[in-house]
Amino acid sequence: MAYVYDPANIFARILRGEIPNDTVLETAHTLAFRDIRPQAPLHVLVIPKGPYVTFDHFAAEASEAEIMDFMRTSARVCEMVGAAPGQGGGGYRAISNAGEAGVQEVQHYHLHILGGRMLGRMIPREQA
Ligand code: AMP
Repeated sequence: MAYVYDPANIFARILRGEIPNDTVLETAHTLAFRDIRPQAPLHVLVIPKGPYVTFDHFAAEASEAEIMDFMRTSARVCEMVGAAPGQGGGGYRAISNAGEAGVQEVQHYHLHILGGRMLGRMIPREQA
């Protein structure tokens, strides 16, 4: 089954400049901006500019230039916001929700970078 990208999704609208965003970093292929409903003191979203629905869609079909740019931009964001442990930062969690089981709200691939406090276990034991 092929991926179907809906260009009406809210991140596509951000990329077209139709609604504002709190940009952290922008490059040729990638945009990083602050989540509008932060779930931690640090909550940044990193998105590719291309039309990819999920992590696996992006990983399978994006060009090497897009993937390289996305990864390097994510690393720069971690460093810029003081989250990268190797740069003296306090640590973070990088999460990507996909599809129904992942409870993905916005149908444009995005990486959540969360930090600024102790985040606890990824999934509570009782829910595993
Ligand atoms: P997910 O559930 O992984 O699809 O996460 C979507 C995220 O997008 C949520 O954390 C929302 O708070 C965030 N979000 C939705 N609309 C906006 C917006 N206009 N600007 C910034 N973040 C947004």
